Amino acid sequence: MNATGGPRAEVIAIGDELTTGARLDTNSQWLSAELAVLGIPVAFHTTAPDTLDSGLEALRIAAGRADIVVATGGLGPTADDLTRDVLAGLAGAPLDLDAASLAAVESRFARRNAPMPESNRRQALFPRGSRIIPNPDGTAPGIDLDVTGPSGRRCRVFALPGVPGEMKTMWRETVAPALAGLVPGGATIVQRRIKCFGAGESAIEALLPDLIRRGREPCVGITAHEATITLRITARGRDEAACRAAIAADEATIRGCLGPLVYGVEDDEVEDAAVRAVSAAGLTLGSAEIGTEGRVAALLARARGRLLDAGVAVRGGLVLSAAGSTAGPDAAQSLADRARRECVTTLGLGVGGPRPGAEGRTVIDVALSGLTDRGGRPAVVRLEHVLGGGPDLAGSRAAKSAIDLVRRSLAELGGDGAAT
Ligand code: AMP
Ligand code: MG
Repeated sequence: MNATGGPRAEVIAIGDELTTGARLDTNSQWLSAELAVLGIPVAFHTTAPDTLDSGLEALRIAAGRADIVVATGGLGPTADDLTRDVLAGLAGAPLDLDAASLAAVESRFARRNAPMPESNRRQALFPRGSRIIPNPDGTAPGIDLDVTGPSGRRCRVFALPGVPGEMKTMWRETVAPALAGLVPGGATIVQRRIKCFGAGESAIEALLPDLIRRGREPCVGITAHEATITLRITARGRDEAACRAAIAADEATIRGCLGPLVYGVEDDEVEDAAVRAVSAAGLTLGSAEIGTEGRVAALLARARGRLLDAGVAVRGGLVLSAAGSTAGPDAAQSLADRARRECVTTLGLGVGGPRPGAEGRTVIDVALSGLTDRGGRPAVVRLEHVLGGGPDLAGSRAAKSAIDLVRRSLAELGGDGAAT
């Protein structure tokens, strides 16, 4: 128990790639921040390699000093994935085959038209008495197990796959709701993430009234990742309806203060919002870029993959070499026109550069063609994006800024402002 009488947690990362230093353990960092939001302090982090002995030792120690253990890794189908065996050993329980899980693994392979390797059967084995944590994005379900230590101390262990995307979905859908019920006074917890782009973290904070303050209810947190700013609202209340009402009030305040800086919610990316806007307006988009390593086309293709109904909106992207090209706003405009022509779309996004800008800055030029202003004349939509951050970050920010120009221009000029 922690000082307030609530449970305390330990986070365990399992994998040779972690203990050898080949890969950084980001799961423990993410899970600890999530546990903190739930009001569950993390007392220890442990990292163990892929051996049965080390895994058992780590879990025995954790179960002896924490009320909740969240472990990631080692649930795959291969011989080095031993977490299910470790848990069975810890609980002194045999592994039982779960028919429904086996059928789910088999059908994933059948959908891909691939035979299921025999080793994947392992992923349908669970220690007797444990609960299965569904994995909507992969083959390995998680395991939720109660263990009782030698002193009679009880501990609840959640084992999740190591793949960060799968782990996060399973946490949000199953583990976090289960844990919220274990915290005294914290009957129900509901979260909502509001996604913003186009201003820095501190600028966004300055635009908001006093929301981001410790101890406020609901609690609003702010984080930045590659220039995308996330505002996370966490409400605690007697039931879900009360939490949702509190969140809706804060969300309305945030949207009112930030206006078009808010582009989406939850897992939305800048490119998803742009492609959605193009699609909703009944338009199509092509791109042409120089000097951005194809990032604009790659992001748009990713959005296309995620949003099937938006697939028709993005027709393609040209990734061109800088050789012999000039840089500047007019060059970006020519690229935008060329994208429209060659991709046969209503809108063309042109991105060119980098080139030296004012005051020693380096800039990327962006132009969007195909929109008209309120008077029906072709609208000049241009952006001079100042590059900043390390090389990777700068490239990612530039591509996102270019793509976000599409969403903002459509919001400003309206979808009916498309030139024919
Ligand atoms: P596993 O569930 O052990 O098969 O892990 C699958 C993959 O997830 C590994 O190959 C790693 O790339 C990744 N992974 C595992 N554990 C972690 C972790 N703690 N942090 C970040 N990535 C991880
Ligand atoms: Mg592993």
